[in-house]
Amino acid sequence: MSYALVTGGSRGIGRACCIKLAEMGLNILINYTSNDEEAKKTQEAVKAKGVDAVLMKFDVSNMEAVDKAVGGWIETQKDKPITVLVNNAGINKDNLMVLMNPEDWHRVMDVAVNGFYFVSRLVVKDMVHKRKGRVVNVVSLSGLKGLPGQTNYSASKGAVIAATKALAQEVGKRGITVNAVAPGFIKTDMTAGLPEAQLKAMIPMQRFGEAEEVANVVGFLASDAASYITAEVISVNGGLYS
Ligand code: NAP
Repeated sequence: MSYALVTGGSRGIGRACCIKLAEMGLNILINYTSNDEEAKKTQEAVKAKGVDAVLMKFDVSNMEAVDKAVGGWIETQKDKPITVLVNNAGINKDNLMVLMNPEDWHRVMDVAVNGFYFVSRLVVKDMVHKRKGRVVNVVSLSGLKGLPGQTNYSASKGAVIAATKALAQEVGKRGITVNAVAPGFIKTDMTAGLPEAQLKAMIPMQRFGEAEEVANVVGFLASDAASYITAEVISVNGGLYS
């Protein structure tokens, strides 16, 4: 009875990852922080694939909450190990850096970087004991190229890319792979306010991507087919940057 934990699974790319991993036969732990309605929709979509779907409401940047929810699961559900972790929860609070207030700087870093650390430290420790596991971190084009108006977000995703490479080297000998997927512009709530018509002119494929196109790569990296790929960052950006 293997489980995949997807952080930020209620909407967007996270929801598409939950559905993709469910199609692969994994049971899903759907994390989210506030949107109960959307989380339930993901839960129904996962259940429709014939696997178990459990809602896990907590803020990934709150260590005590993570310890309670994720640590509690690992401690009490020993016959339901988390074999796949998708660190996907993320937010943006864009502004030019000289105008950015400290709260927006710290919040974006807290969710992406601390969230990655708080969740992964527990799940990967359990994977190390079992000598099996897949970690996929959803990062961003911003973390590779840097995007103006997103110094906080770019810094946070760049940090997770570096952590992906470091952690992969720590746990490779235990049979655990750690990779990242770097989306470009993907149609979700996060990009709903952007001028799509203007931006897509810059993209070689001339369109925004779909959440499912990111989830397909996450699913591949979580599958047996990706058994010798680790410490890698795969872009899903329609050719915008490589
Ligand atoms: P989205 O539609 O805004 O969804 C964000 C998800 O993260 C929601 O499930 C949300 O839960 C959850 N979340 C936010 N803060 C959280 C927290 N503190 N603890 C737990 N869950 C939290 O975003 P998206 O576009 O799917 O983005 C998913 C990931 O892809 C993010 O890491 C984002 O940075 C990255 N990304 C997105 C794009 C893009 O173009 N969309 C491009 C590059 C990278 P609630 O529903 O409860 O709010």
